Amino acid sequence: MERHRHCLNCGISIPPEETFCSERCKDEYIKKRKRMLRIQSISLFLIFLVLVIFVGLKSGII
Ligand SMILES: [Zn+2]
Repeated sequence: MERHRHCLNCGISIPPEETFCSERCKDEYIKKRKRMLRIQSISLFLIFLVLVIFVGLKSGII
């Protein structure tokens, strides 16, 4: 059985020592990941904010 990996961005088969099929794919993946991380941290922050407001309202701090 031939061992190979899949490009982390587009999923095509690539040699086992590679992570991406091309530099462009790598750039694209990094950009996508950065955007995802930003969205993730914003959602976490919003959840935290809602929790703080909720707890604050309940205990009459705000
Ligand atoms: Zn690719």
